[in-house]
Amino acid sequence: MNDDNTATFQDWADALYSLSRSPSERRSFPCPNCGVRALQIVYVGNPESHVGYCSLWCDNCRYGIQPSRVIIPDGVDFFPFSTDPDVVAAAIPDFREVYPDEDVDDEDEEEGDEDREMPTR
Ligand SMILES: [Zn+2]
Repeated sequence: MNDDNTATFQDWADALYSLSRSPSERRSFPCPNCGVRALQIVYVGNPESHVGYCSLWCDNCRYGIQPSRVIIPDGVDFFPFSTDPDVVAAAIPDFREVYPDEDVDDEDEEEGDEDREMPTR
């Protein structure tokens, strides 16, 4: 039995992208790691902007990702930021989080990156 995660963060991000485009077909997408159609997703976000973060995991192999700055698709149930953290935590089981490769800069910082392109003379 292979218990290792073979999917990269990008594989998971691709799965999230597919899910976010077709939230009603969530159960038709296989897990990028084990291939079982057991993906689960919980969104937490701003009720007005629909921007927040999410937990995407597989109920079978219990791997997943927790990206921030995601757009919550229309028509998808989510927890507003004001939700009691215990309530949110209760909706998300323990799973092993997959992180981006170390050579990829933290994408959360990318909005500030342009300032680094200062001419150096
Ligand atoms: Zn899986």
